[in-house]
Amino acid sequence: MLKDDIEKLIRLQEIDSEIRYYKTIIEELPAKKTQMEQSIEDVSKNLSYIKNEQKKIQLEKKERELELHSIEEDIKKLQKQLDGVKTNKEYTAVLSEIDNRKKKIGDMEDIILMLMEKEDKINEGLADIENKSAEMKREVEAKLSKEVEKMEEVKKLLEEKTPERKKIVAGISHTVYEIYEKIRIGKKDSIAICKMEGQSCSGCSMFVPVHLTEKIKAGKELVHCENCSRILY
Ligand SMILES: [Zn+2]
Repeated sequence: MLKDDIEKLIRLQEIDSEIRYYKTIIEELPAKKTQMEQSIEDVSKNLSYIKNEQKKIQLEKKERELELHSIEEDIKKLQKQLDGVKTNKEYTAVLSEIDNRKKKIGDMEDIILMLMEKEDKINEGLADIENKSAEMKREVEAKLSKEVEKMEEVKKLLEEKTPERKKIVAGISHTVYEIYEKIRIGKKDSIAICKMEGQSCSGCSMFVPVHLTEKIKAGKELVHCENCSRILY
């Protein structure tokens, strides 16, 4: 009778371990999903940051070009003014104004050149980043849909296990089942019954005294590990 119960408990333990494994997969999915969605979001954030930088540079370049144009206009005006000056002092003053503006133009041209180089660099890298981002997004989305698919399968398996478990439980004597359940619920790994491994309990690896080993062999009563209290067989 007890031998029968032990055999059924072993099968029940297998089912419970499977159920636990399936439940873990289901429980872990939301976090996995969030992580994957986050990585997709990070990629598009990075891309829009680069695009934004590109826009900023383009805008600044345009502003500088307008500024440059307006200085050039100023120089034209000053040069016309030069024709009408009456004194030498006035002539020198206008000339120095022109020089100042010419210097500014030089500075401005340097800045515009630097902005153009920056823009070129971004343009070169952008296509590559866009391709890589799209590829990564596709990969993550495929992975995610696979995970969802897997979870659907796991849910089905879990549903199948429930009646199987019930059937086995029905064949185990009530007291034995209650002892098993009490231990299982109290264990982090949900293992309530375990095999002897040589002279040790395979649940906690502790030595099992000879008098207990003999009781296991006799098969007349449930024997518990003195250390972890799991049922031994
Ligand atoms: Zn033990």
